[in-house]
Amino acid sequence: MKGTVFAHLHPALQQAIAAMGYQRPTPIQEAAIKPILAGKHLMGCAQTGTGKTAAFALPLLHRLAQAHATLRPKRPLVLILAPTRELAAQIEANCSAYAKGLDLPCAVVFGGVNIKPQVAALAKGVAVLVATPGRLLDLEGQGALSLESVQAVVLDEADRMLDMGFLPDIRKVLAKLPHKRQSLFFSATLSPEVTALAKQFIQGHAVSIRINPEAPTVDTIRQRVLFVDKEKKYSLLKWVLDTPKCFRVIVFPRMKHGADRLCKQLTRDGFPAAALHGDKSQAARLRALEGFRSGKVQVLVATDIAARGIDVDEVTHVINYDLPDEPETYVHRIGRTARAGAEGEAISLVCPHDRQALRDIEHFIGRPIPQDVEQPFHSEHARNAMGAEAVRPKRAPQPRPPRPAKPAAASARSKPFFAAVKRPRP
Ligand code: AMP
Repeated sequence: MKGTVFAHLHPALQQAIAAMGYQRPTPIQEAAIKPILAGKHLMGCAQTGTGKTAAFALPLLHRLAQAHATLRPKRPLVLILAPTRELAAQIEANCSAYAKGLDLPCAVVFGGVNIKPQVAALAKGVAVLVATPGRLLDLEGQGALSLESVQAVVLDEADRMLDMGFLPDIRKVLAKLPHKRQSLFFSATLSPEVTALAKQFIQGHAVSIRINPEAPTVDTIRQRVLFVDKEKKYSLLKWVLDTPKCFRVIVFPRMKHGADRLCKQLTRDGFPAAALHGDKSQAARLRALEGFRSGKVQVLVATDIAARGIDVDEVTHVINYDLPDEPETYVHRIGRTARAGAEGEAISLVCPHDRQALRDIEHFIGRPIPQDVEQPFHSEHARNAMGAEAVRPKRAPQPRPPRPAKPAAASARSKPFFAAVKRPRP
């Protein structure tokens, strides 16, 4: 801790982060903690998995601890807005862990669950409230909550908030906050719409922080493209899941019903799987996540919105069963693995019709994604469907190894990126 920005934090916070195993600050923590401690507004552009939550939560908790502010029922002092229930729950869990040695209760409120316990928690008085916008407004409307004492507000994953149509709700929340407050704004991407929202939200000068905006993909993630014909896609997925080290995997199909179907097929074929999407009840979603965290569930089949912000350590693989339509979504998806410096692998199954989507993604991340042409379900047809307009590698392409005339059985083929040993099913 000595010699890092962590040394500026309250001793109880230093103890908590040591207990969580943080040895040194991540770049965003290095950049954000001091200005937030000084009470400045902040606009942060940062990818997922960068340690963003601690970057804002630690200095805000420090300021609350220093101020010895008195807690009053229904009047939170710090408000953190997040787009999804899962992300909100995770932020609250982190805040509570950091605030363990301080007398600063934290709470989370989100929709889809009984409102009464939330009303009761607010009535006791909370220092830090994490909320999704809709439920926050419901509670405020019922008189269970007042935003008049908020000293600092955080808007997390602002780009996702806009994608999910939360702009009107955010505007309503802003109108209820005190004018004099500290405002912290975070987004993975900075479109003109996001920047416009930041201006309304911050209202004043903000310290601006960008963590790797030019290289949106996290460098530690190994990325691979596997070409396959549509009818062999599911067999290829099973082959990947059967490789060693494929312990905790998130699979992304395009649609909710695709997620359910895939989850059923995988379960039938002996892969412990669970689906996570917006049509699932809150209880089912939490159960799926819990199973995934504990290791009972090997494969989480998730839609983009449901998976956004999930913080599960040691996700070994992210598999794009279907490529996303938006290249930015690719970056968000693969950011689920290789979090906080761990290694991870992102595998994209690419069919002939995905040609345009792959081209867009490679253009967006500014480099071609390495191809695994040695896997047993490789389709030269899908590979060639890449076409002449595809982004070309900056370096001269490597000569391709000769392909055998007739594919042998899957298990006998070489697997350059995965060892060929089969792992017994749990
Ligand atoms: P976040 O980007 O906030 O979702 O954080 C991603 C993960 O990194 C979480 O599991 C954090 O607990 C972890 N983390 C945050 N800061 C540090 C740090 N300084 N050292 C190690 N892990 C960290």
